[in-house]
Amino acid sequence: MSKTSETILEINLAHLTHNFTYLKSKLDAKVKVLAVVKASGYGSDATIIARHLEKIGADYFAVAYTSEGIQLRDAGITTPILVLHPQPINFQKIIDYQLEPSLYSTRVLKEFVSTATSNEKKHYPVHIKFNTGLNRIGFNENDSNAIIAQLNTTDTIKVVSLLSHLAASEDPDEREFTLNQIRSFKQIADQIHTKLGYTPILHQSNTSGIFNYPEAHLNMVRTGIGLYGYGNEAKYDKQLKPVMSLKSVISQIHDLQPGDSLGYNRAFIADTATKTATIPIGHADGIGRHYGNKKGYVTINNKRAYIIGNVCMDMIMVDITNIDCNEGDEVIIFGPESSAADIAEHSGTISYELLTAISPRVQRVVIDNK
Ligand SMILES: *Cc1c(COP(=O)(O)O)cnc(C)c1O
Repeated sequence: MSKTSETILEINLAHLTHNFTYLKSKLDAKVKVLAVVKASGYGSDATIIARHLEKIGADYFAVAYTSEGIQLRDAGITTPILVLHPQPINFQKIIDYQLEPSLYSTRVLKEFVSTATSNEKKHYPVHIKFNTGLNRIGFNENDSNAIIAQLNTTDTIKVVSLLSHLAASEDPDEREFTLNQIRSFKQIADQIHTKLGYTPILHQSNTSGIFNYPEAHLNMVRTGIGLYGYGNEAKYDKQLKPVMSLKSVISQIHDLQPGDSLGYNRAFIADTATKTATIPIGHADGIGRHYGNKKGYVTINNKRAYIIGNVCMDMIMVDITNIDCNEGDEVIIFGPESSAADIAEHSGTISYELLTAISPRVQRVVIDNK
């Protein structure tokens, strides 16, 4: 038995290197790699992940919010950092910390030009985001004249890249829709290129775009989930290695008799003799209540133990009736041995949500071998 003695999240840097190398093998040599490290590096630790990726050659980083970029700069990261979803209230900080905003509307573009102007900036690097069908954030195709008009009034900013985001790159049933997004972005890029007189970096692919749409690799790709070891499809999952392992330990074992109840609200009632294990991880650690009542499971001695009853704040209870195990034994919640994507699917969610939910209370432990 392994000797994990409390709940920990292991971060395996050798696996991160493997995934980075595998993703790069899908790209032409001149395509740049932007590593998405938002949401604490998909629930791991953004600083640890970014330091390692900076060492092994990531060209760019992206975060969602300004505060996440500041954290990376404070940790000494010097690679360019794109802030995907900034708010005007943070534009002064974006400049102070040399972060690069994604500008997604006329309002936001004007605000940024105004902040850059008052800081007497020249050619400050910015990125222009286009909506090609996700309808989330971004300029529309017919905004390009207004953008150019705005850019022609000032030399305070310089457009380093144009980007758009795919809505369904992992879904083969939406191939037509995705190809339309790719076509539409190319048209926008042509228009802007003609009017700007120079070529910004073009990028549109997320992880599944890398695998499924080589025509959308353009000059750079943005990969998040793939770096962390998940490919949104079994055949790519097999090639990647999960970076995060969430592990815990059996605190106590109980024997329930028929009719005994378990946990809050008596959500589980034993109908036969049932052996249960209590594990020190709960919804405050990121294992939400939707994993309770046999939706989610953990692995003990290579066997699946379903979560029974309601998930508590600091504990879950699992059914170990048919598992040979003892108090103090290791419990795997997810990792290379038990895919976060499978648990998520069984519980009605996706790997992204399970990974990014792991709260700061869980101790992060870096390992760099295997
Ligand atoms: C989160 C995000 C990504 C990364 O997507 P993955 O599916 O994790 O590779 C890329 N681009 C944008 C705009 C994002 O918000």
